[in-house]
Amino acid sequence: MPMFNIVIFGKPGSGKGTQADFLKNKYDLYHISTGDLFRKNISNKTKLGLEAMFYLDKGDLVPDSVTIKMLENEVLSNKDVNGYIFDGFPRTLNQAESLDSFLVSINLKINATIALDVNENELISRLLDRGKINNRSDDQDIEKIKNRFNEYNTKTSILIDFYQKQDKFFSVDGKGTVNDITSRLFDLVDSLI
Ligand code: AMP
Repeated sequence: MPMFNIVIFGKPGSGKGTQADFLKNKYDLYHISTGDLFRKNISNKTKLGLEAMFYLDKGDLVPDSVTIKMLENEVLSNKDVNGYIFDGFPRTLNQAESLDSFLVSINLKINATIALDVNENELISRLLDRGKINNRSDDQDIEKIKNRFNEYNTKTSILIDFYQKQDKFFSVDGKGTVNDITSRLFDLVDSLI
């Protein structure tokens, strides 16, 4: 299989992380979740973590300069792979443009951006449920959840147009059981490879 790089896209709680894991295993991809990288840095109390903590706790996006550098470092330190699945990145136009030019500089490109489509009411109940079992402060507070939707709606949703213009945007119905959604994603990726 040729190198295949996927962006998994969607609002908070849409199942990006869960589905990225299935895609990673099935297509042997390297999974990069910027949210997980931030949380790891926060729990290890690194300089980056201390910088990011404040934003994550409010549900605000971390500034592009910090996020883009972290993402590039993660790619450059994991280069011998069959492809990447970018989960939660890019989230701004600047991040998307930087990702394209960074990938070109290492002879790679995004092959497909796949959005998981779920409505906000369903997402709020999923996130509050998730907040009961993880200890993410940003999943436990309705105002923080709404702020994350607002960040998505004002800064991230424009990327649909960005990737549509490149003929790389696909949307999958994100409602139903985890298994249903996984098979929709596998069918789509199989048709693209
Ligand atoms: P997630 O786990 O993807 O829901 O991300 C959790 C939080 O990490 C977000 O609310 C942001 O504060 C931060 N974050 C994750 N990815 C990004 C990104 N690409 N750009 C800016 N902030 C991000």
